[in-house]
Amino acid sequence: MSRLVAVSNRVAPVEEGKTQAGGLAVAIQEALKRRGGIWFGWSGQTVDTPPDAPSLAQSGRITFATLGLTQRDLEEYYNGYANSTLWPLFHYRLDLAQFSGRTYSGYQRVNSLFASRLAPLLQPDDIVWVHDYHLIPFAEQLRSMGLGQRMGFFLHTPWPAAEILVALPAHEALVRALCAYDLVGFQTGSDLLSFANYIRFEAQGEVEDLGPGQGCRIRAFGRTMVARAFPISIDTDVLAGIATQAADTVQMRRLKESLVGRALIIGVDRLDYSKGLPQRFESFQALLDAYPANQGQVSFMQVAPPSRTDVAEYQAIRRELEALAGHINGQFAEFDWVPIRYLNKSFSRKALAGFYRHARIGLVTPLRDGMNLVAKEYVACQDPEDPGVLVLSRFAGAAKELDAALVVNPYDVRAVAENMQRGLTMPLQERRERYEAMMKVLRENDITHWRETYVDTLSQVGGTA
Ligand code: UDP
Repeated sequence: MSRLVAVSNRVAPVEEGKTQAGGLAVAIQEALKRRGGIWFGWSGQTVDTPPDAPSLAQSGRITFATLGLTQRDLEEYYNGYANSTLWPLFHYRLDLAQFSGRTYSGYQRVNSLFASRLAPLLQPDDIVWVHDYHLIPFAEQLRSMGLGQRMGFFLHTPWPAAEILVALPAHEALVRALCAYDLVGFQTGSDLLSFANYIRFEAQGEVEDLGPGQGCRIRAFGRTMVARAFPISIDTDVLAGIATQAADTVQMRRLKESLVGRALIIGVDRLDYSKGLPQRFESFQALLDAYPANQGQVSFMQVAPPSRTDVAEYQAIRRELEALAGHINGQFAEFDWVPIRYLNKSFSRKALAGFYRHARIGLVTPLRDGMNLVAKEYVACQDPEDPGVLVLSRFAGAAKELDAALVVNPYDVRAVAENMQRGLTMPLQERRERYEAMMKVLRENDITHWRETYVDTLSQVGGTA
C-alpha cells in the first residue's frame, strides 16, 4: 500500500487515546497510521527566515514535518489572501473580500515554499492529500518541479457559484491550479455543481458525469481529473459515548443548577461573520417578543471563541455582537434571568457534548458554511429517549444530509423564531423520529467512512506517475 502524505496549513498531532482532539485531526492521523506517511504543514511558529528543511518528528509510522513561516508570509498568505480574500469570497461575502496583488504573491510564494520543502521527502508512489483553501496551488507547484504522484485536494469551505468566483481577479489561475490535482473533493453536490458550471461556461472545459454520487470527470487546462462531493462528518459513535459520560460532570451539574429548570438553546461557533450570529441574536430576540411566555423561561447560550483576531472584519463582528447581546439582555433581563449567555471562549469536546445533550434546541444558522460539524455533533450528543431539536440553516452543507432538522433561512429572523418555538414545543414522538432519521445518516457517513471513501477514490483515480 502506498504511503499517504497529508498536507494542511496546521499540523495537529493527536496524543494517543485523547478524546479532546477534533474529528478531522483524528481522521487524518488514523489514515496516516494505517498506511504510514507524512503530515506536513506550518508549525504554528514564526521565524526570521524560513528553514531549508522542515523539522521532523516521528511517531510510529507517521512523520510530522513542519515549517516555520515569517511574519510577512503569515500576513500575506494566511491573514491576507487565505482569510481576507478566499474565505469571504467562498462564503459569498464579496463585500468583505479584499483583492491585493501583494497578498496574492505571498499566497503563491508560501505555496511554492511549502512544495519545495516537502518535495525532497516524497517517494514516487506516495499519494498526497492536500487540505483546504490555503493550499490550492500546492499540487501545481509540485508538478512544476516535475513530480507526478497522485495528488488529491479537499476543500472544507463552500465552493462559490461561478458568478461570485469570477469577481476574483485570479479566478482562472486558481481553477487551473485545482486542475493540477487528480481528485478534487467538495463538501456537497451543489459545491460540485458550481465548480462544474465554472469549468463548462468559464473555462470551456468538458464535464463528464460519472453516475450518481460518483462525481464527474473534468477535462480543462490540458489536464483530466475527477471532482466529487465527499461530505465530511464526525466520529458519531465516539461522540455519542462522550455525551453520555459528560451528562454527569460537575460542570453539567452547575449548568443545570444555574438554569433552574429553564429550557436551554445552544449555539457553538467560531466568532466568524459567516456564522450568522447577529441574525441569530435577533431571532432569539424575536422569539422573546413574539412568544412572551418564553421570557424568564428560556436561556440562549452562545459559545463563540474568537478566531483570526488579526483580521479587521473579525474585530468588527465581535464589537457588533457585544453591542447586540448587551442590548437584548438590557431589554429583557430580570434580576434572576439573563436571556443571552454570550461566551467568548472555547470549550473542550467533552464540555460541549454535555451542553449539547442538555440543550432543547441546537441553533445552527450560518449564512454560508461548507459543512458545519457543530450541527452533526449536536445531533450525535442527544439522549435517544428524549432528544432535542436541531434548527439548521439551509445554507450549511450539513442541511443537505440532515433534512430531518427544522431547516430555516437564517436571514428570515421571524421564521427562525417560529422554528425555535416549534422546537421548544415539539412532541416527543416527532423529536425521536427526526433524531433517528438524522442519526441514520450520521452512522452511515461518519468520519471513518468519509476518510476511507476519499483515500480509496484517490488511490484509484489516474495519477500521472
Ligand atoms: N469547537 C470546539 N470548542 C469550541 C467551539 C468549537 O471544540 O469552543 C469545535 C466544534 O466542536 C467543531 C469545530 O470546533 O468540531 C467547528 O467546526 P465547524 O465545522 O462547525 O466550523 P468551522 O469552525 O470549521 O468553520
